[in-house]
This record gives sequence, C-alpha cells and structure tokens, in this order.
Amino acid sequence: MSSADTLQRFSFDHTDIRGEVTHLHLSFQEILKRHTYPKVVARALGELLAATSLLSANLKFPGRLTLQIRLTGSITLLQAETDEQGQLRAIARYADDVDETALSVTDGQMIITIEPDDGQKYQGITAIEGGNIAAAMEEYFTQSEQLDSRFWLVCDGEQASGLMLQKLPSSHAKSEDPDAWDRISHLGSTVRDDELLHLDNETLLHRLYHEESLRLYPSSSVRFFCTCSKDRIGNALHQLGYDELTNIVAEQGKIAVTCEFCQQSYAFDQVQIDELFPEKSLQ
Ligand SMILES: [Zn+2]
Repeated sequence: MSSADTLQRFSFDHTDIRGEVTHLHLSFQEILKRHTYPKVVARALGELLAATSLLSANLKFPGRLTLQIRLTGSITLLQAETDEQGQLRAIARYADDVDETALSVTDGQMIITIEPDDGQKYQGITAIEGGNIAAAMEEYFTQSEQLDSRFWLVCDGEQASGLMLQKLPSSHAKSEDPDAWDRISHLGSTVRDDELLHLDNETLLHRLYHEESLRLYPSSSVRFFCTCSKDRIGNALHQLGYDELTNIVAEQGKIAVTCEFCQQSYAFDQVQIDELFPEKSLQ
C-alpha cells in the first residue's frame, strides 16, 4: 500500500519510545507549483515540511503549528505550517543569488509556535548550528523540550519524507529494556535516503525493526491547504484604517493583495473597502 501523503505513528512495546514516519508527494507538489524555487530552497522546504508533518501529531486540539528556521546566509527564512488535520503550507525567503550547492543550517534559530484556536499561544526558540534541518530539530528538542529525539529527513525535489524517534519521559516503570533507545536509534540511523523516500511504511519499518516488537497505528492523510481567505485579508487590511485604504483605491483603482503562501490574489474596490467599515455607513 502506498504511504504517499500520510503520517503514521508507531511505538515499541515495553519501552518509552515512539516514532512517526511521513511521506509528502502531491502535498509537496502543490506547494512547489505555486513558486519557482531554486532547487536548494525546494529541497530545504521539503525537509522542513516533512518535519512539520511529523510534529503535527502533537496537535491534539484545533490549532496551528508553525516551524520556522531563520538563517543569516542567502536563505533567510524557511517556514512551514500545519494544523491538527495535517493541512500544510510553506514559504521561503532567499536572495536572488542563492548558493545552489547546499543549504547550511548553521548560525540560525529554530522557532516552533503552537497556536490553539482556543487557548494560550506557545513559542519555543533555540539557536541551531547542526548543519542541516534534521540536526536542528534534534537540537531544538534536546534544548527546549529536554526530549531525546532523532530525525531523518530527505527530499529529492519531487517528494519529501521524514522519520522521527522520540524517547518519552519515563512516567512509569518501563525500564526493563534500558538499552532500547541506543539500539532503536542506531537501527534508525541505518535508514538510506532512497528507502525513506520510496518504501511504504510497513516495508520500511520491517527492514529497520524486524527484530523489535513494533506497533503500527493507523495512518492519517496530509495535504496542501492554504488558510487564506478574503475575510482574513480584509481583517488585515482593516488595521490600516479607512482613510489610508480609501486613498490607495483613489490612486490605484483597487487594492490588490497576493497571498505569500499560495499566490491567490484578492482585490478590494471601494465598495468592498466600505463593507470592511460598517460603522462608516451609519455616519
Ligand atoms: Zn493563501
């Protein structure tokens, strides 16, 4: 069975170790076809999207999780977002003369933001210098969450996949297998890029862990979806104030806004600007 555009959890019996594996194909293609990213940027975004998909399993409530990498080189921002339904979107900011050879994730910050629809926003920031996105994820979880984690992320420019292992804090007496973390994370590190990209989950996990007692949970689907809408853009425009917006329409005929994530264009004429300020029509 194909594992394309899915996220699947697994765990190891009698241990505190859990894992996840994700594959993005059409969901990644939908993001790529809206931009002409240089290859190095597309691959980096693919890896970040795979990481974001892996983290979406932590969203147990309606809300949004954003993963951001800020760097000082020719790629300055990589950002991917998901919600509790596995809906993904992403953007990148980079210089025109971006170095095409390789992305160096050093001298930067990893920022994870979780925004429940209903509740307190959480943000964690970690300085990163591991050299790649998987190392940055591991640094983040060690430093910010005190959780031993391993990430393997791969993107060939067409599709992206990710594998994660995490050692949960031992809540109850499960330490009958004290070597489990070393053994299971070592086996994880034997995964090859082509295996992670192309094998379905059952075959992949059997190859890595056929001697372990692994429990595989039902998979969920992931897809591209942009949360932009005319209402949301209208709310953002509203902050500029009625006079400013009316001046722009007078000069330019309309206000045109393009969503940075999905390239959808939205236009507002004077009638629609007036509708953003219902209190004005009462005067
Ligand atoms: Zn959009």
